[in-house]
Amino acid sequence: MSKNPENLSIRICHLYAHFLNIYGDRGNILTLVKRSQWRGINAEVTAVGLDDKLDIGKHDIYFIGGGQDKQQQVIAEDLQRHKKALKEATDTGAVILSICGGYQLLGHYYRPHEGPELPGLSLIDAYTVAGHKRMIGNVVANREDGSTLVGFENHSGRTFLGADTKALGKVTTGNGNNGEDGFEGVAEKTIFGTYLHGSLLPKNPHFADHLIALALKRRYGDIALPELDDSMELTAHHRALSLPA
Ligand code: GLN
Repeated sequence: MSKNPENLSIRICHLYAHFLNIYGDRGNILTLVKRSQWRGINAEVTAVGLDDKLDIGKHDIYFIGGGQDKQQQVIAEDLQRHKKALKEATDTGAVILSICGGYQLLGHYYRPHEGPELPGLSLIDAYTVAGHKRMIGNVVANREDGSTLVGFENHSGRTFLGADTKALGKVTTGNGNNGEDGFEGVAEKTIFGTYLHGSLLPKNPHFADHLIALALKRRYGDIALPELDDSMELTAHHRALSLPA
């Protein structure tokens, strides 16, 4: 049953905001907040960092950004503390949006060039190994619903999804997960990962709204989000569609 967005709230958890925030990934949090507030939905952001407790059951959406290998090494062990809680949260409809380094840690492991293999959360059937070629440039990915996602990538990690794990999209510009199989990101139930920095959501308003509606569904059921004037966002999106890799 649809409800009036004016009486709703969305609770966002920003994981390791000080460590994993490379290339302005924090812009995704700003977009989720503004696109909710512009509809009268109350948006609350909780930053959860190293050694912090995670109040599971509270949050509708978890965000984890990208970072260099060093930052990933710092947080990987700490993130393991939340493995069970994040599994429970996503099993009960909470959304995860993860970017690059954060995305890599949702799988079974990330094996960087140097240093130990980092344990992942195994929330998705995937693994990542650092490659010799750094994949940098613009990316366009086509989703199954016909929509497109634009952004830019900068990673040496090559992520490989399990045979039954759904990709976020098919790459038409750039490398995506590994530069080999043509897949970009992951979209498994309410768990989303992507290599698209930019940040991702401002230039992909349709996807931002998809995540907001999914996050709200957890506590309120289906919500019809009122349309916004996305002329500026879509101009940026369409411009990015024609950028070279
Ligand atoms: N350190 C990881 C890699 O190089 C992730 C980089 C990132 O988050 N942009 O693949």
